[in-house]
Amino acid sequence: MKITDRIKRDRPGLSFEVFPPKTGDTLKNVMATALEIAENKPTYMSVTYGAGGGTSEFTAEIGSALLKAGVTPLSHLTCVSSDRERVRSELDKLRARGIENVLALRGDVPQGFDRGKMVYRNAYELVREIKEYGGFCIGGACYPETHPESENSERDIEYLKIKVESGCEFLTTQMFFDNNILYNFLYRLLKKGVDVPVVAGIMPVTNASQIKRIMSISGSALPQRFVRIVDRFGSDPEAMKQAGIAYATEQIIDLYANGVNAVHVYSMNKPDVARAIKQNLSEILKA
Ligand code: FAD
Repeated sequence: MKITDRIKRDRPGLSFEVFPPKTGDTLKNVMATALEIAENKPTYMSVTYGAGGGTSEFTAEIGSALLKAGVTPLSHLTCVSSDRERVRSELDKLRARGIENVLALRGDVPQGFDRGKMVYRNAYELVREIKEYGGFCIGGACYPETHPESENSERDIEYLKIKVESGCEFLTTQMFFDNNILYNFLYRLLKKGVDVPVVAGIMPVTNASQIKRIMSISGSALPQRFVRIVDRFGSDPEAMKQAGIAYATEQIIDLYANGVNAVHVYSMNKPDVARAIKQNLSEILKA
């Protein structure tokens, strides 16, 4: 089923993310993890893609297993080091497995990489390629706090509009920790005429060491309330986990209360975190 048919604008929904292993010897474990998360019956589950494409086989295999388990898969695909032939063979692979949804991404450009050699410089070009191939529901990424490489937030949204006009049917946000940033972003999107469904990406921070990494990849602002939680509980793993799940749950409830019904949890291959969040929202998700 297509993600755009799974997302309901008027009903709360919850989806989860898994990432594939780097090597085949741990595929069995990651597969078991993905299937355990799938037991929460999410709206859909996304499977990430290594920017260089080295784990693409695993992305497709995990997606296929999710489909067999009755969960709609969303396979990520990046273009940073791909050419047309490679993209087409990845799409063949997904189609052969019955996967209908692709999140089209540029991927992070490795340091020192010659951008002149890139066949696809931005995600909208990959979106066009997938659209031309046909048969997929295509999603893309967006950044409530502006993509770190962007000249400014206006430009970022103008480029996002091109991505949507190229065939991107829904967007998933980078993680954010202050919902007001998202509400402001959604308002600016609508003002610019970007009106495809936006899925809000929520990251439950369950250990203090995640923070540095989050800051370096996303540049997300950390609200004082969140910083105080990490300061107070960061050195106690179990307490931090509980507090991180509670913070994410609160963020999600506020999103639903404000009409943002599509929420994607960056569950980071942690079935216990996915389960806890699902349980915290059990009655709300029935509403
Ligand atoms: P783009 O849409 O191409 O944007 C990148 C930059 O280029 C932005 O600054 C934008 O403003 C600018 N830009 C866009 N269009 C144009 C244009 N027409 N002209 C000039 N400039 C333009 N990475 C992975 O490797 N694997 C994954 O599985 C993965 N999953 C992700 C899932 C989500 C929800 C998100 C938010 C990110 C994910 N990433 C993943 C990271 C992503 O690849 C990086 O953030 C990357 O730097 C940008 O990807 P993009 O698709 O947003 O790129």
